[in-house]
Amino acid sequence: MIERTLVLLKPDAVQRGLIGEIITRFEKVGLKMVGMKMVWVDRDFSKKHYKDHVEKGFYKGLEDFIVEGPLLALAVEGIHAVELIRKMVGSTEPRKALPGTIRGDFAQHSYEYADKKGIAIKNLIHASDTAENAKRELELWFKKEEMHSYKTLSETHVF
Ligand code: ADP
Ligand code: MG
Repeated sequence: MIERTLVLLKPDAVQRGLIGEIITRFEKVGLKMVGMKMVWVDRDFSKKHYKDHVEKGFYKGLEDFIVEGPLLALAVEGIHAVELIRKMVGSTEPRKALPGTIRGDFAQHSYEYADKKGIAIKNLIHASDTAENAKRELELWFKKEEMHSYKTLSETHVF
């Protein structure tokens, strides 16, 4: 039940100065940061990460978005971490994302707006959507020695 999952604070989150605020939300719920690095990915790497989206109409805009600046990659551990983080992130379309979620509180794009401009939905954050994808994505983004095992106070007071 203790899972590890991949979170990316996308270039819009870095450039808007929201990375601290977003990480704080994860820390407050008791999630553990086990890996963290700033990466400026290239187009080849984007295609590996978004392999299920490469053939889709919005992929070109998504690739332009993800390579436009550095992003912050996080490996995060916690109880049902994949599900918990997807819940905290909210719907893909910020227009539909509920208040209280990261996308609902800090972004406002809609599919209609992004399509009209021919760009990706700017929604600040990526989070693995299943345990299988979390495993694949963590292997893609982090070497084994870049993820760490240590004890936190949460393990005494939350778990
Ligand atoms: P999520 O990030 O919520 O898992 P998806 O995996 O479906 O969403 O899509 C990956 C990313 O591609 C989204 O976060 C968003 O930035 C972008 N995206 C998805 N669908 C569209 C679309 N129809 N138009 C523009 N951008 C999109
Ligand atoms: Mg996805």
